[in-house]
Amino acid sequence: MARRKKRKLSKKELKALAKSDETTEQVREVSTPTRAIVEVMLPRTVTVSEFAKRSGRPPAEIVAALLKNGVIASMNDSIDRETAEIIAEEVDVRVVEGKKTEEVISVESSGEQQPRPPVITVLGHVDHGKTTLLDAIRHTNVTKTESGGITQHIGAYQVHRKSEKDADRLLTFIDTPGHEAFSAMRAHGATITDIAILVVAADEGVKPQTKEALSHARAAEVPVIVALTKIDKPGANAERVKGELVEIGLQPEDWGGKTPVVPVSAKTGEGIDNLLDTVLLVADLNEFTTRDIGAAQGVVIEAHKAAGIGPVATVLVQAGRLAVGDVIVVGGSHGKVRFMEDERGMRLKEASPSKPVRIAGLSSVPSFGNLLQVVVSERQAKLVAAEANSQMLMNSSAVVQGVRDTLPIVLKADVDGSLVALVQSLESIEVEGMRVQILLAGVGDVTESDIHIATPHSALVLAFRTKVTPTAKQLAQTHGVTVQTYEVIYELLDDVQAAAKGALRRELVPEEIGKLKVLGVFRTTKATKIIGGRVENGRAAKGAKVSVVRDGEVVGIGKVDGLQRGQSPADEVLAGEQCGLSVEIREPIEVGDVVIFSVLQERVVRVTDEVESDTANTES
Ligand code: GDP
Repeated sequence: MARRKKRKLSKKELKALAKSDETTEQVREVSTPTRAIVEVMLPRTVTVSEFAKRSGRPPAEIVAALLKNGVIASMNDSIDRETAEIIAEEVDVRVVEGKKTEEVISVESSGEQQPRPPVITVLGHVDHGKTTLLDAIRHTNVTKTESGGITQHIGAYQVHRKSEKDADRLLTFIDTPGHEAFSAMRAHGATITDIAILVVAADEGVKPQTKEALSHARAAEVPVIVALTKIDKPGANAERVKGELVEIGLQPEDWGGKTPVVPVSAKTGEGIDNLLDTVLLVADLNEFTTRDIGAAQGVVIEAHKAAGIGPVATVLVQAGRLAVGDVIVVGGSHGKVRFMEDERGMRLKEASPSKPVRIAGLSSVPSFGNLLQVVVSERQAKLVAAEANSQMLMNSSAVVQGVRDTLPIVLKADVDGSLVALVQSLESIEVEGMRVQILLAGVGDVTESDIHIATPHSALVLAFRTKVTPTAKQLAQTHGVTVQTYEVIYELLDDVQAAAKGALRRELVPEEIGKLKVLGVFRTTKATKIIGGRVENGRAAKGAKVSVVRDGEVVGIGKVDGLQRGQSPADEVLAGEQCGLSVEIREPIEVGDVVIFSVLQERVVRVTDEVESDTANTES
């Protein structure tokens, strides 16, 4: 039932269109032009604004795509899923089947678009003053509010701002680590942040994490304001830092560019007012609006289990109104809003868009970035939550296999020189329409934050002549993110080429970890052999797979069941040491045999041909 209406757009609609066009322009100026395909799930019919919201695309772009296909629709008109599918491609969106249960979600999205407070995230290099700045901003508010309650850390807070001509205005600040907010954004098709404040200490200037933070903001396509912090310090040199900003692609406004750069001191309070006014100015340019009536939608920005209360979550309301008693689904969790409070612990009955509220009443603790939706009944809430849970389990594999036309990459390198060279080469790769999308390029080790960026995009993480921190490794494993390290440029480029062809697969491949010479056989049962020997190289490890080699031939295969150094059990025994082993193996072992230990490692294997050949899988 696509509405093929023969009518002209009203003045108001044209104005809205023009305005949102400005918005996209503004955003594009500070962002990279490539964007990932977004998957959205749609009910049978959807309003244009809802489609825009779910896909994160500017409404004007969708209206324009509809127009191109002969459908005249304004923001509040409904289109059917078929029509949505037709225009989806043009706006880099893939429509996936809406689940039956989803259609009962009472998202009442017919309300008019109304202005809403901007949502701001502060990010930047460690110790450059993010926390202090957020506290200082919070403080400006507390002193101006007569109630002056002590603000708690609930992950976000709002401040009032009275500008000269306007009435009282609100700004919402996100108080959780910047990278999380940004990683979660695209992962859930959610917009958590409208504006990024990039904190750069005036005495230290641009640092590696400054660049990284900027990459986050650019990937999310949000406008950036630079706060030059610690301007009170003797070593502060605003002009020098502005020069460094230019080098990373941020042209300060007072140098004729587009990026507002505001010197501040969180210590003396200098510049804070100016910073808040600048935020409002940028917000005005971008005209952040949403539906402010009807069933609420929101996103989780903090969640934990509270003693005596159970799961509590801070939710940023993004559309509609959230009310006490609403039946909600939040990711795989569901429930009824039992109570709701703001950052001062004030109980609320209702919360409007951009308001962060802490809610209680959920069945389990949701995750950062989970979307909140209001549903009709508790029975439906349970159903939808259960489906979300099973979907989550399936997703990790589905995404990897998904068809896309960009290959997202997170790149870390040892020095700037190699980074620049790699980025240039990677950006020139194009295989059958598949292009590389660099989400982040930075100098230094692969850290947890890199994995956070990669996860929602199912990006490949490539480390060139640099290390992967143990915590990052662990996180990557948990999230199923592939991290590859390289010493040679062309090997990295070859792999990316192959990945672009869709020819890279992840497999568990046995990797040899060490060798042992058998010096004694102590006990032999049918299924177990107790032996002693010396580790010749590498290591012997409990749980490792074992191949027994005699005269150059493998005569048996088993597993290390127990390992002992002297009299005490050990998990690992290193080269040069002697040890006793209990090996689960059927074949006999003899003195003089060589035992090879191996463990299964996840490896990216290259399929050399279009046709997958089994022989190619075992070597990487
Ligand atoms: P974060 O790691 O970015 O959150 O940095 P913090 O907010 O913890 O600040 C790091 C250090 O810089 C702390 O010792 C702060 O007291 C100090 N600091 C932050 N802002 C200012 C400022 O405007 N002026 C001065 N003099 N020190 C500051």
